[in-house]
This record gives sequence, C-alpha cells and structure tokens, in this order.
Amino acid sequence: MSIIVQKYGGSSVATPDRIKSVARRIADRKDTGDGVVVVVSAMGDSTDTLTVLADQLTDAPPPREMDMLLSTGEIVSTALLTMALKAIGYDAIGLDGNQAGIQTTREHRRAQIQEIDPSRIHENLETGKIVVVAGFQGISEGLDITTVGRGGSDTTAVALAAKLGADVCEIYTDVEGVYTADPRIEPKARQLIELNFEEMAELANHGARVLHSRAVELAWVYNVPILVASSFTEKQGTLIHGGRNMEMKDKVKGIAHDLDVTKVTILGVPDHPGIAASIFSPLSDAGISVDIIVQNSSVDKLTDLSFTVERSSLDEALAVINPITKTIGASSLTSNTNLAKVSVVGAGMQSQPGYASTMFECLNKVGVNIEMITTSEIRITCIIHEEGVQKAIRALHSAFELEADIEES
Ligand code: ADP
Ligand code: ASP
Ligand code: MG
Repeated sequence: MSIIVQKYGGSSVATPDRIKSVARRIADRKDTGDGVVVVVSAMGDSTDTLTVLADQLTDAPPPREMDMLLSTGEIVSTALLTMALKAIGYDAIGLDGNQAGIQTTREHRRAQIQEIDPSRIHENLETGKIVVVAGFQGISEGLDITTVGRGGSDTTAVALAAKLGADVCEIYTDVEGVYTADPRIEPKARQLIELNFEEMAELANHGARVLHSRAVELAWVYNVPILVASSFTEKQGTLIHGGRNMEMKDKVKGIAHDLDVTKVTILGVPDHPGIAASIFSPLSDAGISVDIIVQNSSVDKLTDLSFTVERSSLDEALAVINPITKTIGASSLTSNTNLAKVSVVGAGMQSQPGYASTMFECLNKVGVNIEMITTSEIRITCIIHEEGVQKAIRALHSAFELEADIEES
C-alpha cells in the first residue's frame, strides 16, 4: 500500500463547514486506495487566541505551560476532523503528537523532531483507517508536551511523510500554490508550477510563510516532494522537488519578505582577535539565532558591529549582550525594530553577474534605502525600513519581470 500524507492549515479547517469540506476531500483521496495520513493545524486563528489568553494572565508565560496550552488547538481540530470523517462513513482515528509517536528535543516553543515511532500509525493504516495527526506538537524525553515553532504543522507533515516513506507530502492552504511573491502584497504575483528544494528553502527561510522553513529543509534532506495547493479549489498547485532546472530560464524565481527583523548594533568595539566569538558564542549558547552580521572596517582599532535577530528574541539578545558590551569595552548598544528583509531568489542567478546591481538600482529608483545586504549563491537580501516593503516588492517584481509568462523551468 502506498501512503500519502496530507496537511491542512488553519484557514482550511476554520469552521465546521470547512472541516466537512476537508473531510470530503480526504474521503475522495482514500477512495483511490492509498493509505492516508492527515496532519491538521488548529482552527483559524485559534493559536493566536490561546496566546492572547495567556498574555492576559502573565507577562512571561512559562514555556512548558505555553506548549501545553498551544498544543490543545491542534487536538481540537484533530478530534473534530476525525468525527467529520466518521460521520460520512469513513473509519478514522485521531492521534495527538504523543500518540502518533513524535519525539522531540526539550526546547519548549522551538523543539526539533528527533524521531518518530510510527507503529501506532501503521497499525491503524493496516486496518484501513484514515489517521489524523495533530500537527505542531510532540513529546520530549521527559514526557513533556512540546511544540515545534509557529507554523510548524508543515514540519510535522513532512517528518511523517519521510518516516512513512510517503510518495509525496501534500500541503493544503488558502492560496493555490507558491507564488512569485506573497499574493497579499503583490496582486500581480504569479503562481509557480515548480521549484527546487534549494529555491524554496531560501524563500521560506527569508519570510515566505507559505511553508515552514524547517519543513522544506526536511523535505530536501529526505527527498520528499511537496505539493502546495489550495484546499478551496481543485487547481494544480506547486510541486517542490529535488530536480535540477535543465535550463535556467527563470533566473529570479520569486521575492520573499520578512517583517520579523530587528537590528542590534554594538558601537566602538575594540578590533582584535576573539571579539566576535566573545559576542556570538554566548548568543548561540542562549539559543538565539542570529541572521545577518555586518562589521564595519575599523578606524583607530575600533569598529561597529551589527546583527539581526527575530523581534521575539530581542529582549533576550540584549540581556546577553549588555554585560558583554561592558566587558569588551565597547562604547554603546542600540537596536532598531522598524526594519524588514526583502530577498530575491532563483537558482538561475548562480554565478551570473548583474542581479545585485539590478536590485540595488530598483530600490534606489523607488526611494528605498538599503541598511544591510547579504547574499547566498542563489539569493540577494536587503534590509530596509519596514514602511518601504510593499513599494520594494512591487518594484522588484516588475524589474525582474516576474509577471511575464515564464512558468516552466
Ligand atoms: P496555513 O494556515 O495553511 O499554514 P499560512 O498562512 O501559514 O497558511 O500560509 C499561507 C499564506 O502564505 C498565504 O495566505 C500568503 O499570504 C502567504 N505567502 C507568503 N509568501 C507567499 C508566496 N510566495 N506564495 C504563496 N503564499 C505566500
Ligand atoms: N497552529 C500553529 C500556528 O498557528 C501551527 C500551524 O498552524 O502550523 O502556528
Ligand atoms: Mg502555515
């Protein structure tokens, strides 16, 4: 029996009617004879609602209890979707993360999936049941409930697809696939038919929230193709796979943006060996992930050092860096939260000159100032002020001719 894994996001199961419609789609898939495992997110915005509840009780919700609280959102939708399947005559069982055998590391709110014991899922598939699994959660070695980061049901789905040897992981959401830019920001964005893992990983890592970035990384490592499609229509969707583009016709594939950016700058840092390690090792020990780092060339053996972190990590980062600033004799510490990242991505850009200058000229033309720049082989990222994001995306979308009809790779 071949197995397929489907995942339905929050907007796809936001109401009882939506749950009924999703149940019908799953039933139709089951009728084709495959073993069907379904991963489901919490209904609509219910994870945000749970977060607001916690915030009304405390300024610092304990991470362990936050995970306990947030995991309930996916348990509700799992139970309801399973009931909806049974109500239309399909045998199904709902499993929470623990029951589904999803074992994670201990870091609450950002645990990593370490192993999956698939025995209970297999037992149920063998008896013909549809298995519905609560996304986003697992259980740590200490038997505490953990969650794998916001948007993490995608990662649950891909991890299960890899473990179960599924042919494909189908991710159903509220857009018809992966677009050349977030269609909510750029109405001219065009749906892509396919992308390779590397391109999708760059887009997701730099803010394209249509897929959780760790889901793409897992799919790449385990070579599990992902189909992103709408749960509201029957359109074809976007296939993300491990293939190479034969011809690099689509040089820039898409534009990603991310509003979750904060810049921390340490001014007047003495420029001698070991300084960078004394700043970044404690940040890494505290589990804070640093994105872009820029160090100015030194004048009189003093330099300025800037780096970016997610907004939610700012307070923690400042608490770690403040005492270090004093120990190393730097002059001051500042932070700026009104920033955003805009990235252009495409495997075809590899070793081709001219893309960076096109991007910088385009931003200059629309009056968007660039604060920081980073690149990979297939990506150029600029940090800009957040109020310029929409203008920047639309201008870049046009400059790189992404509206044009270049859908095939
Ligand atoms: P789900 O609840 O199904 O997981 P998400 O809200 O996490 O859905 O992801 C879908 C959203 O991702 C879309 O509504 C869209 O606004 C956003 N998005 C950002 N970048 C892109 C992109 N390049 N292509 C498609 N959607 C994108
Ligand atoms: N419900 C969780 C969230 O809103 C996980 C997910 O939807 O993927 O972040
Ligand atoms: Mg999502």
